[in-house]
Amino acid sequence: MNKLSLATTLVLLPTVSVSYAFANDDSGLTREQQAAKTEVWEPVPEVVTFDENGVPSDAIKLLGDNLSAWESVKEGEAAWSLDDGVLTVKPGTGDIKTKASFCDVQLHVEWKAPTPDEGMEGQQRNNSGVFLQQRYEVQVLDSYDNKTYPNGQAASVYKQTIPLVNATKAPNQWQTYDIIFKAPTFNGEDLSTPGYVTVIHNGVVVQNHTEIQGTTEWIGAPKYKAHGCAPIQLQDHGNLVSFKNIWIREL
Ligand code: MG
Repeated sequence: MNKLSLATTLVLLPTVSVSYAFANDDSGLTREQQAAKTEVWEPVPEVVTFDENGVPSDAIKLLGDNLSAWESVKEGEAAWSLDDGVLTVKPGTGDIKTKASFCDVQLHVEWKAPTPDEGMEGQQRNNSGVFLQQRYEVQVLDSYDNKTYPNGQAASVYKQTIPLVNATKAPNQWQTYDIIFKAPTFNGEDLSTPGYVTVIHNGVVVQNHTEIQGTTEWIGAPKYKAHGCAPIQLQDHGNLVSFKNIWIREL
């Protein structure tokens, strides 16, 4: 349907709704013709296909056989190690971030915590993080049989919102985060609408359209400070956490 015919249809809509009010007016129509009145045929959704790793054809792959989509937060190239598509934190080199900036997104991340060293517990047991817009951390942590403050365990919005359940797999298993993020909006320096995040951890909803209260601070309360679209950032917390198959779709 072109724009003109769509407009014509919209103009005719009052007539259609009148016919709803007087259902008998439809008495001359077959049930199929009556049903057709509420069919909407346009727009037709774009077709998405999938590659061998399940990456949708309309996604941006953030991890391939090189780190060209990433850079160090401090400066220069991302210094983490990449081996056969598996990215591993190189402790001490600092966080890395995408070169591109994003606003509302669907983000897929696969991550894996190694076998913990003797005595590693709480926040020290293989900690990393996925920062949306470099400010809002979805915690990555080996929370398998590992006590810590729940608003800092895996899939928490760090120091803000406890995940609905603990869906963490044992160390050395690949885990998935599927994150749907609605970026906060600002009017000048003032917050207009807060950010929202949904997190699906290993197929389980653990954050359900959670309101983000502001930046995810280690110390102190969250706060909002106006910003625009910004990169995805991965945390170097000094542990050998690995990532693979990271892709993103702009919404
Ligand atoms: Mg972290």
